[in-house]
Amino acid sequence: MSATTADPGQTDLAAIAADRGIRYFLISYTDLFGHQRAKLVPAQAIAEMQANGAGFAGFASWLDMTPADPDMLAVPDPSSLVQLPWRREVGWLASDLYMAGTLVEQGPRNTLKRVIGQAATLGYTLKTGVECEFFLITPEGEAIADAADTASKPCYDQAALMRRYDVITEICDAMLELGWGAYQNDHEDANGQFEMNWQYDDALVTADRHAFFKFMARSIAERHGLRATFMPKPFPTLTGNGCHAHVSLWQDGRNAFADPAGELGVSSVGYHFLGGIVAHAEALCALLAPTVNSYKRLNAQPTQSGATWSPNSITYTGNNRTHMIRIPDAGRFELRLADGAANPYLLQAGVLAAGLDGIAAARDPGPRLDIDMYNEGHRVSDVRRLPLNLLDAVRAFEGSELLRDRLGASFTRAYARLKHQEWTDYTNHLTQWERDTTLNC
Ligand code: ADP
Ligand code: MG
Ligand code: MG
Ligand code: MG
Ligand code: MG
Repeated sequence: MSATTADPGQTDLAAIAADRGIRYFLISYTDLFGHQRAKLVPAQAIAEMQANGAGFAGFASWLDMTPADPDMLAVPDPSSLVQLPWRREVGWLASDLYMAGTLVEQGPRNTLKRVIGQAATLGYTLKTGVECEFFLITPEGEAIADAADTASKPCYDQAALMRRYDVITEICDAMLELGWGAYQNDHEDANGQFEMNWQYDDALVTADRHAFFKFMARSIAERHGLRATFMPKPFPTLTGNGCHAHVSLWQDGRNAFADPAGELGVSSVGYHFLGGIVAHAEALCALLAPTVNSYKRLNAQPTQSGATWSPNSITYTGNNRTHMIRIPDAGRFELRLADGAANPYLLQAGVLAAGLDGIAAARDPGPRLDIDMYNEGHRVSDVRRLPLNLLDAVRAFEGSELLRDRLGASFTRAYARLKHQEWTDYTNHLTQWERDTTLNC
């Protein structure tokens, strides 16, 4: 246990506050669009909030509720406690949502816990690691912050990485202190883009850390006069922000995806799980690539660096980064579909729901495709392309009964309704492109 994470044996938040000098708690929840909402609660009031929850008007955040609904209560999970490394007197807590005494089914963290529960009845635990790419940009959001970061192949650029030493190491030091097993930081494939990696863990732990990482990266960047963005495609000619997920499933303390005799060291359970991801890929896009902007990262033209590093079709392969799924190593695979806008909880929930369906139906993912998908993809005619926009993805999502059964009908309905609203809002905008192409029609 490290100094700023919770001792799993200790759950009394008032006592923890007294021990650690926590003056305020952020009782936080993540809404359907991935935004974190919180109340800042003084330690003097935490005992009552821990028992009964902090009250919110759910409709005021991205949840499918009405202004007339009763108060929604966010009940903090003490095992998620993180003492902010950059402001130690504040303790951050992920929470579960309740209304009128029952769990709110559409709550993203509740949804993930439900699907984790389905896996648990089969004796399975999902373990995942996420790679949260982000840009450091100017506070106004117009441009990358480092004017000298202009190389056409900027990936792993040592000098550009070291110009951001102060902010990157402050974030990495925080992860080390939190006991996340941080192990590397690099400049990524776009100018101004970085990635920081920590060790995989149980899906709920990774989801809470993913949510916290975004908050932390933004907060620490801001303290350095910068802005961190996870937007999927902030600059049209540069590589976008992916959020690759590495996935394995465990049973009785051993990796059920590992089999030395299986192809590439992956077991038949692993291939069935993968078959579920392949079968439901279009629908999963609504969760993993959840914004209008996400589809400017997927299916994109090659970027300035030469490649987008994002998938365009529903294919899998070995250690080759041009496909939707890569098997980099025995006993796990990497799903390259998700982007920086993915809700940390719904990413995990979607992957697990699709994978469990794959196992239940013994789905065959078909043959591995060992080609350079970017340069030779046109030669294969029978592969499914990823959805070209958010609307197609949301329609696939609502049409998927199998995913709905696992994720929950009320969650699926709520999510689809809000995403349709977002799409309608988008289509109500008249763009410059339309004027340029249509004024003279
Ligand atoms: P790459 O850039 O090659 O895709 P990274 O090193 O950036 O990979 O990220 C790999 C992620 O995969 C890390 O979070 C790591 O802990 C995680 N990982 C490694 N092995 C497993 C596994 N068996 N199950 C789930 N995640 C794993
Ligand atoms: Mg009020
Ligand atoms: Mg990586
Ligand atoms: Mg990367
Ligand atoms: Mg990766």
